[in-house]
Parts: sequence; structure tokens; C-alpha cells
Amino acid sequence: MPAITIKPERLLADLHRLRAFGAYKTGVHRPTYSPDDMAARRWLVARMQEAGLSARMDGIGNIIGQNTAARRRLLVGSHSDTQNHAGWLDGAMGVIYGLEIARAFLEAGTPGGAGVDAAVFADEEAHFASFLGSRSAIGMLDEAEIDSARNLTTGETLRQALAGAGLAGLERRTIDPSRYLGYLEAHIEQGDDLEARGFNLGIVTSIVGIHQYRLRFSGVSNHAGTTRMAIRRDAGAALVSFAYAVNERFRQLAAERTVWTVGNIRLAPGQVSIIPNHAEMLLQVRDDDPAVLGRMRAALEHLVAETRQGGPCAVEFEILAESEPHQMSRHFQDALGSAASRMAPGQWQRMPSGAGHDAQIIARVMPAAMLFIPSIGGISHHVDEDSSEADIVLGCQVLADAYRLLLEETRQDN
Ligand SMILES: [Zn+2]
Repeated sequence: MPAITIKPERLLADLHRLRAFGAYKTGVHRPTYSPDDMAARRWLVARMQEAGLSARMDGIGNIIGQNTAARRRLLVGSHSDTQNHAGWLDGAMGVIYGLEIARAFLEAGTPGGAGVDAAVFADEEAHFASFLGSRSAIGMLDEAEIDSARNLTTGETLRQALAGAGLAGLERRTIDPSRYLGYLEAHIEQGDDLEARGFNLGIVTSIVGIHQYRLRFSGVSNHAGTTRMAIRRDAGAALVSFAYAVNERFRQLAAERTVWTVGNIRLAPGQVSIIPNHAEMLLQVRDDDPAVLGRMRAALEHLVAETRQGGPCAVEFEILAESEPHQMSRHFQDALGSAASRMAPGQWQRMPSGAGHDAQIIARVMPAAMLFIPSIGGISHHVDEDSSEADIVLGCQVLADAYRLLLEETRQDN
């Protein structure tokens, strides 16, 4: 198998062209099915076709650009939608890697019958629902969910949005796992671990599980001036004490990369002179070890029981979501590691992903792995999101080379 060489200038030029769709300050605003998002998707289809891939958009906005001459294939891609008023590389980089590596294999003449299909998934950023596109692509999205989903920002129904985007009535296509060796996705790290440790590449071992909880505290409203402290049943105060206790307890139980966040607190009636009778907080915990997530939840349940016993407010505990961690293919990780060692010896590490990615969905039906490049300053989901051109180019070449290594192995096996 000859070396597969990607073209750095073309890769960067296409990334900058994609950035122009929905450009906002130094970042991008390309929410799923917005006119800018759809224009970007149509441009990606055209770009794939120019490269010689057979490409079209399906009924959920996914695009799979197929190398129809290939007998052995890898799926490479990511998502092209963005968070609101966010960065230019999140998702976009992995999408353009897929296009560029697919092109490189086509230009090399689909060597040994090997090629790449480029994938662009819709709504990874969950404007309507988590992993809408990748779940649709593996048959994990039913029509009832499409009927009920709404845009989190605008409230528009998903059906209205699909109609507005010209996708209503189009067939949703599922990928056939038997066509592929597996799936590789590259992404910016979105944290500062690689930069802080001086590495240029991260090979993802697993994608964290995310547990989300709602805690509701009930007390009694009364006058904030005349009600003595001793007889108050202040739901707000109960919440604050509880949040403090969670922080203390979790600190003792956390593994090296466990993170937790109280992302939202609401008090009712929410007036300066009224003791709150209701308080509510959303708590999220992330880790890549199910045992760690389990012991955090057990600690939380223990604190709830303590609060109930101690009073003076009632507390309700609700599990909103519990996604388990997803392990990446060990075999694919090793291929990425070999490719990284050749091109960037001593400059890479293995690491878990603290963010969710389409790869965790695709991993349900075929081997999948991910490659990270550093985010400058660890900034993402913000217009300042950026990465060095050298790292962008290196990551793409390493991904292409990892596939070549996987192909050489499978040829030896046969
Ligand atoms: Zn992303």
C-alpha cells in the first residue's frame, strides 16, 4: 500500500470555506437546519461530488459521500452544525478530514480496492435532540421522536424545521456496518489537557458517560422580615446547603478526571423579600468509568436521605439521564498510536473524551475511534475556538496513515 498523502493547502482552504457559512465574529453560527447550515451541507455535497464521491443528503440532513469503486471502506467524518454563536472547528474539522482523506484515496486510485466514505452527521449539537443524525444513521431514531422534538432555542418543531430545510419526505438512510472496517472521527479536544501537557495529538480511549439529575426542595414561603430563622422552612437555603455537601462529598470520591456541574438553579417565587418555598437544581456528573459514576450516584442518594431525615425541607431526587461511558476500539486506537508515533514521536497521549461525540453512537454498530488535536487555550463552544494549522494538518495525515496501517494488517490477515 503506497503512502496516502493529504494536501494541506486544500484541507485548510476547504475548512476556511466552510467557516464562511454562518460566519459570526471570529466564529460560526450554524444551528441545525438554519439557512446557513443547509447551504453548508449543500456545498459539502457538491464538494464530495467534485472529488468523485457519490453523495447526497438524506431526510435528516446526513450526508454520506461514497467511494463506489472501493471494496474495503472506512467511514470518516463528524458533524457540520454548530452550537449557537460558537466556534469554527467543532465538528467542521472532522468533516473536512473525511472529505480530504476520501479525496486522497481517490487520487491514489483507490489502491488495493481501499477507499474512504465521508460522513457528515446532522444535529450533533442537539438543537433538537442529542445525536439526531448519527442515531438516525444507525436506525436508533424513530418517527415518534421526530414528531415530538423541538428546537431548544426557538421552540420550532423538528417537523417544521425539516420542511423548511426542504428535507420533509426524503428518505432517511441507515449505514450498512458490513460495508465498513469501522469509523474514525477527528475532533478538536475542547479542553486544555493536550496543550497543558505539550502534546499535539490525543487518542481517545473512551467517551465519558453523563449522568444528569434534578433535585427539588420544598419548603414554605413567608415574609423575609418577620419570619424568625429558627422556624423557617427555606427551600433556597436547603438547596445551597445540599449543593455544598455534594461538592465536598464528590471531591472525596472523584477519580482523576471526574467532573460535576450545577448548571442551573431556580428559586420560586424568586422575590427578594419572600422566603422561597421551592428550589430546584440540575446536576451533571461525567466520568469514563461506570464504577465512579455509580459511586457518585450512591453518594448523592445518601445525601438525599440525610436531607430528608434532617429537614426542615422535603427533597425529591430525579434521574434525568444516565448515559454509560463508551469504549473506543482498542485495535483502532493502536493503529492511530502507530501512525502518531511515526509522524509525531513522543508528542501524543491516550486520553478519555469529556465531551460526547457521534463516534459513541456509531461505535454501537462498528469499531470506532477518535483522534484529538489541541484546542488553543482549551476554548470551545465560543467564537475564540481555534487550533494551530500545523496541528490540523498533522491530525489529518495521521488519520489517513492509521487507515493505511489498518488496511495493511487486514491484508496480512487474509
Ligand atoms: Zn463536536
